[in-house]
Amino acid sequence: MEIASSATLQVSDATDHAWRNEAACLEEDPELFFPEGESERYQRQIDAALEVCATCPVIDECLSYALEADQRTGIWGGTTAEQRSRIRLGASRASSTQRRRAAVAGASGAAVGPDRSHEATADLERAVG
Ligand code: SF4
Repeated sequence: MEIASSATLQVSDATDHAWRNEAACLEEDPELFFPEGESERYQRQIDAALEVCATCPVIDECLSYALEADQRTGIWGGTTAEQRSRIRLGASRASSTQRRRAAVAGASGAAVGPDRSHEATADLERAVG
């Protein structure tokens, strides 16, 4: 099985993914970012990958890419697959809450309330834990 990490990922539009050239994992074994095995080894591998991510200057770009590309396996942007799943769930809930508020405001003719974007951000931060 071929493993694609952020450093080895093949993409058609390199200019959109130029951030990969700055990746802290460029010289790392891509398998480090796709932990497998029994639980203790698995956790050590996750910890080691997250340590690399913690030093990465493009961690935000990497996480954005992983969320947009719906990467469901591996370590990307300093997150595990489970953490990204929680981020997606939190974003989905925040988005549906905003849609409900807009629909209620539209139905009642009232102006939409104050900017609640900070609530969505807080939802995402809680999701990551
Ligand atoms: S955040 Fe982690 S996985 Fe993403 S490019 Fe940086 S080191 Fe690689």
